[in-house]
Amino acid sequence: MILSVLIGVTGGGFAIHLFLQLNRELATRETRLQTTNTELEQACDRLERFTANASHELRAPIAAVLSNAQVGLMTPKEDMDQPRQRLEKIVGLAKSMSALVNDLLFLARHKGITDKRLLRPFDLRPVLASLTEDWQAQPPTPLELTCDLPDYPVIVRGDADLIQQVITNLLSNAYRYTPAGGHVGVCLTCTEADAVIEVADTGIGIAPEALPYIFERFYRDDRARSKTAGGFGLGLAIAQQIVQAHQGTIYVSSQVDKGSTFRVTFPRASVCN
Ligand code: ADP
Repeated sequence: MILSVLIGVTGGGFAIHLFLQLNRELATRETRLQTTNTELEQACDRLERFTANASHELRAPIAAVLSNAQVGLMTPKEDMDQPRQRLEKIVGLAKSMSALVNDLLFLARHKGITDKRLLRPFDLRPVLASLTEDWQAQPPTPLELTCDLPDYPVIVRGDADLIQQVITNLLSNAYRYTPAGGHVGVCLTCTEADAVIEVADTGIGIAPEALPYIFERFYRDDRARSKTAGGFGLGLAIAQQIVQAHQGTIYVSSQVDKGSTFRVTFPRASVCN
């Protein structure tokens, strides 16, 4: 009798314990599901915003191509100049659309980690040296460009073309947003773990309220755009995507009317001297 009571009590206790454990497990799973759900909703929102922005950016040049073609077709046959000017405009618009589509494809194709077969150890110095030489050799620009490299190899493991693309995007922004007479500097250094590339300019700078958004796709600071012919707002998003695919980091510090410094780090593949 006592034994059966004992068995009953123990069994009951065990059942309660199991029930509580199950309850806790269910609560944990529910929280996880809620988090996944929120993340999925955010990803959907981002995708919707991205599609809307891309369509919006393409709509304006398509409308301009159409109107230029229609006006060109209406021109009297004896007027040879007008259609030519219209065609030149159409060529310009098509080039800009093609650049936008290339950027969009780039963002879609190079998502996540890059193809491992393309990741090779290489010295960053010759890449940066030849890039800055190319920029220095461009048609006379009213800017001074300097390049400061260490006298020892700085080896990183990556896709050299993609890393070059990051620096090209940063340089093209530095040139775009720095008034004549300014200075753009590229500097390569090392920490114990990382190769550090800085691209600094003495340009118009970035407003503190714009700083959190500049790496977002299609983000453009209107203040900067009103002063210069800006791009589509994809250059920094592309740079960030490439850097992250190489397990690197990209940061910016900036002061309005003083300039901006973009700091990119890549994990070193071997020890610097
Ligand atoms: P965009 O094609 O408009 O230059 P980016 O993604 O390269 O697009 O840059 C996003 C925004 O960040 C730019 O519109 C500009 O407002 C700001 N920005 C980027 N680089 C600089 C810089 N070096 N100096 C000032 N503003 C910059």
